[in-house]
Amino acid sequence: MIASGWKNPFVASGRWRRANLHTHTTASDGKVSLQERVNEYAQNGYDILAITDHHAVTPLDKLHDPDSMLVLPGAELHPANPYGGSTYHLICLGLTQALDAKRAAHPQEIIDGVNARGGMVYLAHPYWCRHALSDLAPLARHAGVEVYNYNCDCDGRADSTASWDELLNRVGLMPAIANDDCHDAAVARTDTFGAWTWIRAESLTATSVLEALRAGLNYSSCGPEVKGLTVEDHALKNASGSALKTHRIRVTTSPAREVFFVSDVSGGHVQARGGRPLEEAEYIVRQGARYVRIEVVDFDGRKAWVNPVPFTW
Ligand SMILES: [Zn+2]
Ligand SMILES: [Zn+2]
Repeated sequence: MIASGWKNPFVASGRWRRANLHTHTTASDGKVSLQERVNEYAQNGYDILAITDHHAVTPLDKLHDPDSMLVLPGAELHPANPYGGSTYHLICLGLTQALDAKRAAHPQEIIDGVNARGGMVYLAHPYWCRHALSDLAPLARHAGVEVYNYNCDCDGRADSTASWDELLNRVGLMPAIANDDCHDAAVARTDTFGAWTWIRAESLTATSVLEALRAGLNYSSCGPEVKGLTVEDHALKNASGSALKTHRIRVTTSPAREVFFVSDVSGGHVQARGGRPLEEAEYIVRQGARYVRIEVVDFDGRKAWVNPVPFTW
């Protein structure tokens, strides 16, 4: 059955809000000011922008933010890595005062410190960091993984899906987010508006948005819009004719080329046929699967990632 505590983001109360949760300004190595950055995203259909300059929390008090936009304070912090890999990049959201990551005895100290201050932490672009499971698995009490980072495309390392899957398979279930990690101005068209996170939040307030993220009420996208997700009981007949209880997952989406159902056991793949785009896909969950996550690919190769649905047997 579906593991207790799982909430389906596609039927949760509230509405979808589009967010970029990883943003740089001239306060660190970004090329545009905070005000300009906020204006760019407000004018391009975003509801939420998290400011995550390196090492420090950029003050938001002088900002004239457009009414329609929620601007979240935060930082990208870089504690040293005691496990042999490169320095960590931690996206810290809801943080109003930075912690000195360089002085931390261990990266866990930073994660726990951000949590204690009411914030939350995601592991940024692990594939770009060349992080192996041995770098990622020891970290606990973070909120999840940045599955796609548009800026890291410049190194061919934007897509961290494999790192996320390793964590899901070997450590535990956790949500993912996708972000621009923008440094350039929007007019440069290099690292803006290429990846975003849809958050199902009750209201456009920091409390409501962070609460929704903590509950995994979000999905990640570079293009496809996931419109619905249902998980229903389903009975299969085995060879001897007796019924096996499982589940049927159904997803509805904007026109897609492929839908993948990815699991810790064998998954499923549905393809568009006869030139007709997919707008829905179904999958019967294999008995014993701990989770199924869904990946949608459109005709331009752009992906969307739905967080794992957990099962117990
Ligand atoms: Zn980074
Ligand atoms: Zn960054």
